[in-house]
Amino acid sequence: MSDFVRVSAEGTHRRLDFLKSKILSLTSDVINSGEYISGTKVVALEKSLKSKWGRNSITTNSGNSALQLALLAAGVSPGDEVIVPALTYISTSYAVSAVGAIPCFVDINPHNFTIDLEAVRNAIREKTVAIIAVHLYGQMVEMKPLMQLASESGLKVIEDVAHAQGAKYKNNYAGCIGDFGCFSMHLGKNLGGLEDGGFITVSASKDALQLQSLRDPGKTQLNKYIHQEFGFRARMGEFTAAMIDLELEFLEHWNCRRQEIAARYNAAFASLPFQTPIAIDECERTFYKYVILVDSAQERLALENRLEALGIQTENVCSRIIPEQPVYAIGLPCRVEPLNVVKKLVGRLLSLPMYPELEDKEVDAVISAVHQAYKKVLVVN
Ligand SMILES: *Cc1c(COP(=O)(O)O)cnc(C)c1O
Repeated sequence: MSDFVRVSAEGTHRRLDFLKSKILSLTSDVINSGEYISGTKVVALEKSLKSKWGRNSITTNSGNSALQLALLAAGVSPGDEVIVPALTYISTSYAVSAVGAIPCFVDINPHNFTIDLEAVRNAIREKTVAIIAVHLYGQMVEMKPLMQLASESGLKVIEDVAHAQGAKYKNNYAGCIGDFGCFSMHLGKNLGGLEDGGFITVSASKDALQLQSLRDPGKTQLNKYIHQEFGFRARMGEFTAAMIDLELEFLEHWNCRRQEIAARYNAAFASLPFQTPIAIDECERTFYKYVILVDSAQERLALENRLEALGIQTENVCSRIIPEQPVYAIGLPCRVEPLNVVKKLVGRLLSLPMYPELEDKEVDAVISAVHQAYKKVLVVN
């Protein structure tokens, strides 16, 4: 067992270790600067984000707040309906619930697991005002037909870019196609600081101004003690801003390394009986996670256990779809459309180790463990 390689499911610790000396010097910079929240470093980061994504960028204290503020800026009011995919992280629908609106859960497309266009079309009612397009695991929604449908139906489109920092669809960045792009900079995401964080991209400068006011709780430009609008405490701290600005220069490189690992996994798993993540034409996807689809929940469990025994940590990423989470099942208002496709995926999605800091020998170890595990998994079945 001398070549036993243990591979962890996530690599945040390695990223922080790599940046440690820079992070320590940023800490003292921030302390010496005398500005701690929403100061020069936040302004500098917003400028960097604007030059990278090409849109006004408003930082927030989390991806969840980014979504919530974008919904308010989009004019979503209590009782309105917002269409969301049933397969996502719960923050997507929580943002809708938080503004008093009703999430309408729709099915996903069986090929790329993102929101299904026909399901969206069928879900539109008089009260529908917006759609949240989640670029799941780094795979983008087919934005062109979605934008067309939204414009025919007079709906706003909010992109949830928590998984897709740097992904592109027909040469446009994720987060720069819909009316608003909402990013998470939670430390576990592809561009994540040391804690929570997020930002919103938007074209219109009047929307940018409203978002600045909404995050700082509704204060006017001239006098911070005059409040004309309701607002939230949702600003980013100086340290987080400095850290994200530092990481921004590595994003492309990190994303490329993730793609490289995904390509090795794809090639190595071609002969195995499970579905690997797809790439759609004209879409440069990113890999927030590398998620495979196996035949059954029992097979996923057998594979997961076998890999664990071989030292490879994985994650069961869809143990329950969002409308069946107790919080919605028990009573938080929502509407649920037919979910035939997504219901069949429950328990069958397994996320394999995917982070830029993975070493080649660890990628090899994952590949060989999956092959070895499959010999047994298949026997079990
Ligand atoms: C992480 C995540 C969010 C929320 O971001 P936070 O920064 O954690 O609040 C929203 N949507 C999706 C799909 C996510 O994975």
